[in-house]
Amino acid sequence: MELECAEASKRISAELDIPAIALTDCADDKNVRYNKEEDTGERWLPVSEVKYRSLFQHAVDAIYLFDPKTKRVLDANQAFLALSGYTAAEVHNLRIYEFITQDSDKIATHVQQIVTSRAATIGEQVWHRKDGTLIDVHTAVSIIKQDGGRAIGFVIARDVTERKRAEEERERLLKEFEAKNVELDRFTHTVAHDLRSPLVTLQGFVNMLREDLDQNEREKAENNLKYIEKAVTKLDKLLNDTLQLSRLGRVTNPAEDLPFGDIVEDALEQIAEQIKSSGVEVSIADNFPVVHVDQMQIAEVLVNLIVNSITYRGSRPKIEIGSRVDGEETVFFVRDNGIGIDRSQHEKVFELFYRVDSKGEGTGAGLAIVKRIIEVHGGRIWLESEKGKGCTVCFTLPIA
Ligand code: ATP
Ligand code: MG
Repeated sequence: MELECAEASKRISAELDIPAIALTDCADDKNVRYNKEEDTGERWLPVSEVKYRSLFQHAVDAIYLFDPKTKRVLDANQAFLALSGYTAAEVHNLRIYEFITQDSDKIATHVQQIVTSRAATIGEQVWHRKDGTLIDVHTAVSIIKQDGGRAIGFVIARDVTERKRAEEERERLLKEFEAKNVELDRFTHTVAHDLRSPLVTLQGFVNMLREDLDQNEREKAENNLKYIEKAVTKLDKLLNDTLQLSRLGRVTNPAEDLPFGDIVEDALEQIAEQIKSSGVEVSIADNFPVVHVDQMQIAEVLVNLIVNSITYRGSRPKIEIGSRVDGEETVFFVRDNGIGIDRSQHEKVFELFYRVDSKGEGTGAGLAIVKRIIEVHGGRIWLESEKGKGCTVCFTLPIA
């Protein structure tokens, strides 16, 4: 054992041109044998170097020495072996290109810079472990000049893969949180703004009602009461839509596997009267896939889309409900031949309370609710439409 150590340190010593020490069981606290000049006679090393050798070997950080000329590893500690996955035998003469993933030209330039400037550099590298996995490491690279003038690269490395992953996750969560905050802000603003207008209307009619009563105008009073009732109904719908939207994404019934066609049937049943009285012709595809969804919510999506197609219909109204395969995904659609939506409005119509034409009866919450439901299911929704050329609402859903 002692012989092996002595031999190893002799080799290191020869290659590194630095004093290497044999650290053996017999190395006592005061002195240790110094091999370099064994040929010329024994010398004894100060204890501090033993300590350094021990520090090197047992450091928590990975440490290795390399030859800046050949880029070969000269010596490496236990932590380096553990980090890189190489054995002590493999590490000897391992070229640094083999574990640093950077371009070899770049590594060479970098090493040259450090040798010339002699300034230590702190940086980040990606290493290839022997098993092929990649790790992020923080490195401190410096050059030690030996007595003979020969330069030795000295690198301390720390695995920061986990930390980087945690940082990235934190970054992602922060972004998500900020986006949510912006959305919430806009939501609150929109709700406050849109609830105010029927309130203003209400206040106006209440004032008029008071005048009517002062003047004993019963008929006018009745009329203004109707407007008040209408404004109250509108307020109630706005509040309900708002509540529904805020609930979506929080409370979800468990998803089940269902043929999409069943959900279409369910939706059509819910609005059978409206379809009949409007005289639209509805055609349904018959080759729908099975989806993994909350049935009630997706039925509501369809009801909203079909009602829109009815509301914004043209002459000889037709509605087609179908699906198509687009590359990897299945796209479901509700298509009509109604008044259509101009391209400039394609994003806006999904905003809460947005209506292309404010004269309409709706509150403008339908498509915002639809979009939220689709997104909670992990899908996307978009329009294919031009003004005057009908409207197709497309969406994706998880397929069972
Ligand atoms: P509600 O909350 O009662 O559904 P709404 O129908 O006005 O009210 P959305 O369903 O969100 O609200 O639709 C937003 C706007 O998009 C509508 O006001 C209308 O201008 C336009 N729109 C929606 N669907 C169609 C369609 N199929 N064809 C033409 N325009 C449409
Ligand atoms: Mg609508």
